Amino acid sequence: MEVSRSKIMRGIPASPGIAVGKAHVLEMEELHVREKQVEPQDVEKEIERFKAALVTARKEIEELRETIGEELGQEQAKIFDAHLMILDDIVAVEKTTKAIREEKKNAEFVYRKTLSEIAEELDLAKDEHFRDSAADVRDVKRRVIRHLLQEPRRGLGKIEGQVVLLAHDLTPSEAVLMSKDTILGFATDSGGRTSHAAIMARSRGIPAVVGLKYATARIRAGDTIVVDGNRGIVDINPTEQALQEYMRRQQQFLDFEGMLVDIRELAAVTTDGRRIELSANIEMPEEVELALAKGAGGVGLYRTEFFYIRSARLPGEDEQYEAYREVAEKCYPYPVIIRTVDVGGDKFASYLGAARENNPFLGLRGIRFSLERQEIFKIQLRAIFRAAASGNVKLMFPMVTSLDELRQANLICSEVKEELKQRGLPFGENCEIGIMAETPATVMIADSLAREADFFSIGTNDLIQYTLAVDRGNEKIAYLYDPLHPAVLRSIKTLVDAGHRHDIWVGVCGEMCGDPVGAVILLGLGLDEFSVSPYLLPEIKTIVRSVSYADTRQLAEKAMCLSTAAEIRSFVEEKIVGKLPTFLSP
Ligand code: PEP
Ligand code: MG
Repeated sequence: MEVSRSKIMRGIPASPGIAVGKAHVLEMEELHVREKQVEPQDVEKEIERFKAALVTARKEIEELRETIGEELGQEQAKIFDAHLMILDDIVAVEKTTKAIREEKKNAEFVYRKTLSEIAEELDLAKDEHFRDSAADVRDVKRRVIRHLLQEPRRGLGKIEGQVVLLAHDLTPSEAVLMSKDTILGFATDSGGRTSHAAIMARSRGIPAVVGLKYATARIRAGDTIVVDGNRGIVDINPTEQALQEYMRRQQQFLDFEGMLVDIRELAAVTTDGRRIELSANIEMPEEVELALAKGAGGVGLYRTEFFYIRSARLPGEDEQYEAYREVAEKCYPYPVIIRTVDVGGDKFASYLGAARENNPFLGLRGIRFSLERQEIFKIQLRAIFRAAASGNVKLMFPMVTSLDELRQANLICSEVKEELKQRGLPFGENCEIGIMAETPATVMIADSLAREADFFSIGTNDLIQYTLAVDRGNEKIAYLYDPLHPAVLRSIKTLVDAGHRHDIWVGVCGEMCGDPVGAVILLGLGLDEFSVSPYLLPEIKTIVRSVSYADTRQLAEKAMCLSTAAEIRSFVEEKIVGKLPTFLSP
């Protein structure tokens, strides 16, 4: 008798929603590449064969780009531009032809080796975006090898009925072919939140969990699978009772989604009329549309370092200008807050040449890096000020810990503006310049910083880490990382009060305002703006619209008198349960 294997696996939530269905396991694409010797007289023919495969692959990619562009829009089609760049990579092509000629090896063997080496290098990168582009390199590699071997492609087309798709990996070009009609949800062993498959799942509204490591080894075709993209869970052959619970949650999620469409156009205003700005955090220009579709009133944090990290070289002024202008224009009349590059810490780009440090989070990070590398800083500032002529752009500096840093950065801004004036280029003369408040030092000198900054945006992710001396990425001490620690709440209150005393607005762009309890407390502490991940935005707007400002003020005041995070949490939870729609209650 077959024993049903019930098992819960945890991965990375990549696209929200819950899917229940039969598993369709996509086998690894088997491309048998054998090493063969090429006769000296056939070497040029082999090179021709390689070049012909590149041409066929190019045609295929261009066709896909066109179809996807028409069907899903130009943003989605951009992946294929990246694929064409990989295909045309002069170093890879020359290395392959040279090896065919000198080592007299067959094209598929040599090309596989060349591109595998590139992908492996990218796998080792610290940054998620680099690691994700390894999938693109492998995608191109498989496509070219498939043509060299004249093999048919692994298809999603053979799927019958509606299924939950399981794969070790989904190539970006497979991911674009996913249709909501057949793929109820998907789960992959590899991938991250920003992998292309994850981005496409989100844009199509297909629930997904990625990074499960061993899902394909544990799941068999026909197993009943639940993909809970909200919590990053995959449940294999759940019990009847668990299944009912998932169905209930699924219905709740669908009802919630339906309701959110209705609130998209509404303001984030409390029941007694306090309005807060609710904007979105983005990392890539492509995310603006999603943010606006979710009802964002602008971009509260554009983390530009991803733009740097995704490039293989330093992005030039015009390239940056185009990206920032695109975001500013799409958002207009809403504001876009562009944060200058925050490399260092856990974010690196090898071409920036930052040396390894023993304590990178306490090292050359954020504004410190920009002030050290002013030539890079100025390029970015020029691009931002120029983009500010086309929209409502504000500028902000990360990791400011002293007034000197702010003054120095402001001085460089004035120089850059003067330069643009000399060049006769239009730029945003009155672009507001604010700072991220994310260290205890910033809190302690908030008064003097507020005199010279146009706004504060509190980066709670770092503020918590530095205030509590808890590494934000270390799972061993994650239990100590508590946004409700009284030290954190007092720091936030100090920042809000100092900002308001000097008539500047104070927002939060850390994850704390994307959590129901955190959002309620922050509201009560008097914050003027929240900037959250686009997916959390409707939920947070619902919360703001469900509570009264007077109540949250009172609640925050009382919470500030309590001594521990646990006391604060239970006090706040008790008070807000019943005030929020049931599905948002903690
Ligand atoms: C923060 O620190 O809260 C923040 C928003 O910045 P980042 O997460 O990019 O460090
Ligand atoms: Mg930060």
